[in-house]
Amino acid sequence: MKILITGGAGFIGSHLTKYFIAEGDEVVVVDNFITGDKNNLKGIINSKSLKLIETDIVEFDYRDLPTFDIVYDLASPASPVVFETLSFEILKVNSIGLFNLLDFFIKSKSKKFVFSSTSEVYGNPSVSPQPESYFGNVNTTGPRSVYDEGKRFAEATISAYIRKYNIDARIVRIFNTYGPNMRRDDGRFISNFINQAITNQPITVYGDGQQTRSSCFISDMVDALVKTGETEGLRGEIINIGNPDERKVIEVAKLIKKLTNSGSNIEFKPICEDDPKIRCPDIGKAKRILNWNPKVSLEEGLQITINYFKNI
Ligand code: NAD
Ligand code: UDP
Repeated sequence: MKILITGGAGFIGSHLTKYFIAEGDEVVVVDNFITGDKNNLKGIINSKSLKLIETDIVEFDYRDLPTFDIVYDLASPASPVVFETLSFEILKVNSIGLFNLLDFFIKSKSKKFVFSSTSEVYGNPSVSPQPESYFGNVNTTGPRSVYDEGKRFAEATISAYIRKYNIDARIVRIFNTYGPNMRRDDGRFISNFINQAITNQPITVYGDGQQTRSSCFISDMVDALVKTGETEGLRGEIINIGNPDERKVIEVAKLIKKLTNSGSNIEFKPICEDDPKIRCPDIGKAKRILNWNPKVSLEEGLQITINYFKNI
């Protein structure tokens, strides 16, 4: 198969790229490295089956690229720490960048399109767990809005393309994901806590740590993304992907402290505006239509991620 992955040098994209290369597929990665890193593709960078194009998808002219079996759009900064510094980049990649890519998708007669949306479209949810049918509770102008509304706009764009051109597009709403290839300074809680714990720095818990997240290990995420791209008959489907093992942030901090045998103290810091109080995916639909279920426990996934950060 021929696969196009925008954002293929990022955390999730690099694992997906490696998966398809290992399967013997041809992969084109388009990435401007704004939050990604060429090193994430170590081991496959010289593969004849990989073509890496360094460019911004907001401006890229796809003209010379062939027809693809699956196009994955993963290009977007995703960590709350860059919502302010990369606000325009986030808005543009999820709007102009997406239009540009969808127009190429149609012209090239490529077959299936998978867009990486996010649990952030649910904002600070008032129902739990969150099913795909929940419309969300998002502050349209707050500090997280560039990302939340960027992805909501992208979902609306894809839905309009499906209605108008009947393209075979699918939307995955990705919940918190972690594992090797996250940046050390990514700013997300699991990478922060591990790096603080292994260097004996204070572990920074925002607010009282009672807010919850449900974290999915990267291998389970890749498995679900592959199934979403390869399964027939999913035109227009919106699918939550995540691990429903919901934990309080403070619990995760204590677990990482224990697993790393760290002497770090837990330090409470102010929490940012609109930080969701709860988050947990309803994955009934993914189980049903993808025949997918996450397999890696939080404890196992954290241990692998701890070893990764200790060794880089
Ligand atoms: P990441 O920042 O590691 O990867 C994003 C990649 O996209 C990077 O390599 C970056 O350089 C590239 N990129 C960004 N803007 C670009 C542009 N204009 N042109 C070309 N390349 C560009 O983030 P990630 O965690 O791997 O996230 C991948 C996708 O999954 C994103 O769309 C994100 O919104 C979504 N997502 C991730 C999570 C998570 O927990 N990691 C949760 C929900 C949704
Ligand atoms: N968080 C924290 N300490 C950190 C980083 C994050 O307590 O050093 C909290 C953050 O306030 C949020 C949760 O951990 O409640 C998850 O944050 P993250 O940035 O990983 O992702 P989010 O789910 O908010 O997008």
